Amino acid sequence: KAPAPLYRRVLLKISGEALMGDQDFGLDPSMVGRVAAEVKEALETGVQVCLVIGGGNIFRGVSAAASGMERTTADYMGMLATVMNALGMQSALEAIGVPTRVLSAIPMQTVCEPYIRRRAVRHMEKGRVVIFAAGTGNPFFTTDTAAALRASEMDCDAMMKGTKVDGVYDSDPVKNPAAVRFEKLSYMDVLSRDLKVMDASAITLSRDNDIPIIVFSVQEPGGLARVLRGEGRYTIVTD
Ligand code: UDP
Repeated sequence: KAPAPLYRRVLLKISGEALMGDQDFGLDPSMVGRVAAEVKEALETGVQVCLVIGGGNIFRGVSAAASGMERTTADYMGMLATVMNALGMQSALEAIGVPTRVLSAIPMQTVCEPYIRRRAVRHMEKGRVVIFAAGTGNPFFTTDTAAALRASEMDCDAMMKGTKVDGVYDSDPVKNPAAVRFEKLSYMDVLSRDLKVMDASAITLSRDNDIPIIVFSVQEPGGLARVLRGEGRYTIVTD
């Protein structure tokens, strides 16, 4: 008999950039497929999974605003980009037999369900993967903050932040081979040292609601399931 899972329910945050693979823009189908396989493997360990997907691979509000577009409009465009990514992820998950529902913070009845908290909980209890789209539904926020918000609302045991590296380092490990990885950090460490884990509002919300943040690599196959078993390399951010 498999050991009882460490986590009952987790939220996985994947940035748009992680879904881009080696491309400069958009979705890399092989990368989306890889993440879907990771989610399937995690589900098979008995944990409930929900996802928040970013949109930076398609559109980022701040960048568009910097070149003259009205910020709120640019942010709505960014939120729509996350819906496209969520549909791409849904398709990849369903292709491997994982039932999913996309719930959008901006109602879009003909495309997906609107976000209703109780409905999201019910879907997860039934073993479906819920993909939260359109961020928080508000401009001036990020999908990191949306992830912290949904993880809090869904009473998740942890927020899994999948990145290109296996945790949080004291400097960029891609540029600096001597960079040191942290095993454990406090929310305050992240904020005071301005470590690039998630933006400050996401960190604060996670701290207020006691949601540990686990930063791990989505590049290594089986990484998510390993981290959910408490194995492998990752950085955990708690109190
Ligand atoms: N966005 C927003 N409100 C939210 C979430 C996202 O306005 O609650 C917009 C914002 O313009 C952002 C874009 O959607 O730049 C894409 O999200 P994000 O940059 O967080 O994606 P990621 O970096 O995770 O790929």
